[in-house]
Amino acid sequence: DSADYDREVKSVCPYCGVGCQLSFKIKDDKIAWVDGVDGPANENRLCVKGRFGFDYIDHPHRLTTPLIRRDDAPAKGLNVDPANLSTHFREATWDEALDAAANGLRGRGAEIAGLGSAKCSNEEAYLFQKLIRQAFKHNNVDHCTRLCHASSVAALLENVGSGAVTATFNEIENADVAILIGCNPAENHPVAASYFKQFTKRGGKLIIMDPRGQAMKRHAEHMLQFRPGTDVAMLNAIMNVIVEEGLYDEQYIKGYTENWEAMKTHLADFPPEKMAELCGIDAQTLRVVAREFAGAKAGMIFWGMGISQHIHGTDNSRCLISLALMTGQIGRPGAGLHPLRGQNNVQGASDAGLIPMFLPDYQSVEDDGVRSAFTEVWKSDDFSNQKGLTTVEMIDAIDAGQVKGMYILGENPAMSDPDVEHARAAFAKLDCMVVQDIFLTETANFADVIFPASAWAEKTGTATNTNRQVQMGRPAVSPPGDAREDWWITTELAKRLGLNWDYTHPKQVFNEMKQNMKSLDNITWERLEQAAVTYPSLSPTDPGQPIVFGDGFPRSDGRARFTPAQVTAPAEVPDADFPMILTTGRQLEHWHTGSMTRRASVLDWAEPEANASLHPKTLRKMGVKAGDMITIETRRGAIQIMARADRAVSEDMVFVPFAYVEASANVLTNPKLDPYGKIPEFKFAACRVAPA
Ligand code: SF4
Repeated sequence: DSADYDREVKSVCPYCGVGCQLSFKIKDDKIAWVDGVDGPANENRLCVKGRFGFDYIDHPHRLTTPLIRRDDAPAKGLNVDPANLSTHFREATWDEALDAAANGLRGRGAEIAGLGSAKCSNEEAYLFQKLIRQAFKHNNVDHCTRLCHASSVAALLENVGSGAVTATFNEIENADVAILIGCNPAENHPVAASYFKQFTKRGGKLIIMDPRGQAMKRHAEHMLQFRPGTDVAMLNAIMNVIVEEGLYDEQYIKGYTENWEAMKTHLADFPPEKMAELCGIDAQTLRVVAREFAGAKAGMIFWGMGISQHIHGTDNSRCLISLALMTGQIGRPGAGLHPLRGQNNVQGASDAGLIPMFLPDYQSVEDDGVRSAFTEVWKSDDFSNQKGLTTVEMIDAIDAGQVKGMYILGENPAMSDPDVEHARAAFAKLDCMVVQDIFLTETANFADVIFPASAWAEKTGTATNTNRQVQMGRPAVSPPGDAREDWWITTELAKRLGLNWDYTHPKQVFNEMKQNMKSLDNITWERLEQAAVTYPSLSPTDPGQPIVFGDGFPRSDGRARFTPAQVTAPAEVPDADFPMILTTGRQLEHWHTGSMTRRASVLDWAEPEANASLHPKTLRKMGVKAGDMITIETRRGAIQIMARADRAVSEDMVFVPFAYVEASANVLTNPKLDPYGKIPEFKFAACRVAPA
């Protein structure tokens, strides 16, 4: 009822990459409730996080004043009580805190590394990478894409020439077959999942492939619950059938691709009968699925971190790209490749250059012409032509004494990095750690200077969702106390580091970004104030292109490439000491490291306690009941956590969400990296489980 609120502000959900548009209803300068609005990705729908997960912004733990570590603070560790910061930090003015941060970071070149944030706006991501490159003259800047879809992006750039989706997820309404692999959209992209369910209701065939079961299973024609880590074997077997049975699209392959003969030869080694035992899916099912996808009039492939978070994550994505290419399922209505993005602005933060090897729009730092185009706009000197350190490499560089200071904005690597005790120990060694966030995160425990920042509902800025839709975020309320918008904080720090910055509004930043980002051609701030625009937009009135690559690919020869993938075992396989498989991920109610959702009252009420999912038979064998505490141990460490019975996991597997500090899943995970995407193997580690 409009009488129940004073005003409303339209913005975008702060959580997942679906990018639902919503309306904040505000009463007495507080968000009273949230409604969905008619955005291009959600058409009024919201999930439980978007609808009920907003009151974290009023939580008493909000940081409201700049903080500086006290001279007499205890040794750095995960030891600060968020309700009593004065044991470790003293309150400071903005001038004091900004000066302290600048003095700690200034003049240290490649000894400084930066982690920006996919929770911030495009403009804030752009400013962050610019600060690291302009102030420190190198490229040690990354963000959570490294832990999420870096391997997907590596494979997409390599083989189709662009790291973004080729079709929006809403295009599924024009498809007749869709594959969901390594993703659990009912929990992680719930509004996208509602479109996937509609697709099956009107007769579309859904093929789900995942080592874990999931709620979408009951809507699926096929559920291939394959053995963890055998993605390449299974996908090569499916493609083998398409080749052997002549089901490929010869005309498309000839017209738009390269390296087909090598791919065909490679696939001959992967008949389903040979791969069935390895991947745990019988040969006949692999054949049926291959025929159904190859026979689709229009087919889409969606994937998530079950594909990307492996040491063979890039190979997994290469297989999916090859499957779409050989069947001609790209560039038409209802056809395409769609890695479902995690955070609300991980697509935009990547586009804006928060990546150690790329400037904005994936332009290589190694290209002299590219760097000079940026330094001309920035009116600054050249910077390094060497790729910078990635997220996990930064931790190793701290250990090696190469990195001595960090600026971290809105990320929580002390919870999200693999082998996280190692990362925490590394942060304790830094000479200067500057953290900008809305709460005293686990990472901020280790900080020397803390900047109190703005939540999404408190800021102006654009964000780009999984569909390449650029949307305007608007401030519903003001940041509390002395907290400030992130673009303002980064600008003030830049000035103290001697940079010539004079931004007074994110619109200025957006206009600067446009000068070297072709993806923003025809997209203006004024247009975004009216409506979302999907990039690429071909004219000042074009709302954007939901489908790309209908007529060739942005590679040097205009052709996409088949890159064969070999089967690689996970970095750590189960053995007598650690006989089970650990896999990690998210839950519907909790977002990433839990810093926001565990402080959102409804979400915390719905899922208050750390829990691990095991098959009921596994629990019985251990003599453990659901609700009992268990110990999970790997070669990195051990946690104690409540057991939950869940038939979705196989008997040799345990699933642990990574949102809970009291039972940090990443104490257990393996930091081994995919060699191309540099993404850790969060989805597979050898573990043992016992009653606590
Ligand atoms: Fe927010 Fe994602 Fe839920 Fe939409 S689906 S309301 S973007 S968390």
